Amino acid sequence: MHVLICGGGVIGASIAYFLSCRGVKATVIERTGLACAASGKSGGFLARDWCDGSPLAPLARRSFALHAMLAEQSADDWGYRRLDTYGGFAGFPKRRSRYGLDWLSPDVTVSQALGSPDNTAQVHPGQFTAAMMRGAEAQGAEFRLGRATGICQHGGRAIGVEIDGEAVEGDAVVIAMGPWSILAALWLPLPAVFGLKGHSLVFDTATAVPGEAVFLEYQEQHGGVLSPELFPRTDGTTYVCGISSEEALPIDPAEVAPDPGAIGRLEAMCASISPRLASSEILARQACFRPVTSDGLPLVGAVPGVAGAYVATGHSVWGILNAPATGEAIAELIVDGAAHTVDLSPFDPGRMPRLDPAQL
Ligand SMILES: Cc1cc2nc3c(=O)[nH]c(=O)nc-3n(C[C@H](O)[C@H](O)[C@H](O)COP(=O)(O)OP(=O)(O)OC[C@H]3O[C@@H](n4cnc5c(N)ncnc54)[C@H](O)[C@@H]3O)c2cc1C
Repeated sequence: MHVLICGGGVIGASIAYFLSCRGVKATVIERTGLACAASGKSGGFLARDWCDGSPLAPLARRSFALHAMLAEQSADDWGYRRLDTYGGFAGFPKRRSRYGLDWLSPDVTVSQALGSPDNTAQVHPGQFTAAMMRGAEAQGAEFRLGRATGICQHGGRAIGVEIDGEAVEGDAVVIAMGPWSILAALWLPLPAVFGLKGHSLVFDTATAVPGEAVFLEYQEQHGGVLSPELFPRTDGTTYVCGISSEEALPIDPAEVAPDPGAIGRLEAMCASISPRLASSEILARQACFRPVTSDGLPLVGAVPGVAGAYVATGHSVWGILNAPATGEAIAELIVDGAAHTVDLSPFDPGRMPRLDPAQL
């Protein structure tokens, strides 16, 4: 069996990994570069139980456990670690901090412990995606640079992918192009997927910042309230994201760039939140789009009406967390005919109406 996966983000690479564990040949077709989009530019924060009470809970819990297992079993290092997580606010009148985080400015109030090494963790998302792909390749998978331009079909069945206009045969195809999965609605009966833009900075903080994740509410001096997330990483960098926008998704992932002014606001915010960030070199000023659906849940499952076609996207703010369990479940669905580690029915792509291709 040969499965063609369109999209080399964390979801596509994880599907390839779990298929290769089942002895199935997988080819990941990626237009621009492995983890070039949100999968390389996101926070990489993981939480075991923050999705509890929503249909995502079983997927998130399974995936949190898989992240730990994968890190333990592999000789590869992608910056996985358990860590403490705190919440607080800045830019508002100062209150007494319940927790002392000495790398933050004294004006920041740290009011809550949101998580502990028991239920919160992190990875470097780009390194995790690359490690999943390497692991898959070591078990026979292939990474192929090229643009998916269509799905080849015969008698109601997907029989291949058009790569830059050339047909490549396969026994099954998976759409995992993140927000660009909306383009696949031209080829397959799929609901809409949208992209929500987020901006981030990566600082070279070396050992100046300990391994503590922080979620803040930040009042800008002459602006709105931002919700920055700060993730010091094991590689001596600190990642900060915090400004979202509804800018249109460019067709070409290589053309994603920060909105004018957004990076300046982020830099000013970081300088006011932490003197250690203020004095650290900025290694990356970047933006990316997270894939979202109209009901907020991912699309993970078989494409209705087209045998051999599958989709896995729309993971929104939890794509890095939920990638391993998604990869495992899609591999089960393709190989065994049904997923058994998690119930995929809440994510059935058939639950929402098909996007009319004329709207694209
Ligand atoms: C600012 C920000 C912070 C985040 N923080 C976290 C976090 O802390 N924890 C967490 O769990 N999640 C987080 N997320 C969410 C997470 O990053 C995403 O849900 C996840 O990366 C989506 O992965 P993906 O593989 O579906 O899509 P993507 O990473 O977008 O990958 C899709 C791939 O498809 C490729 N592609 C596009 N068109 C084509 C084509 N025609 N042919 C072939 N390939 C194509 C693209 O080049 C791209 O590489 C964050 C997101 C943002 C924006």
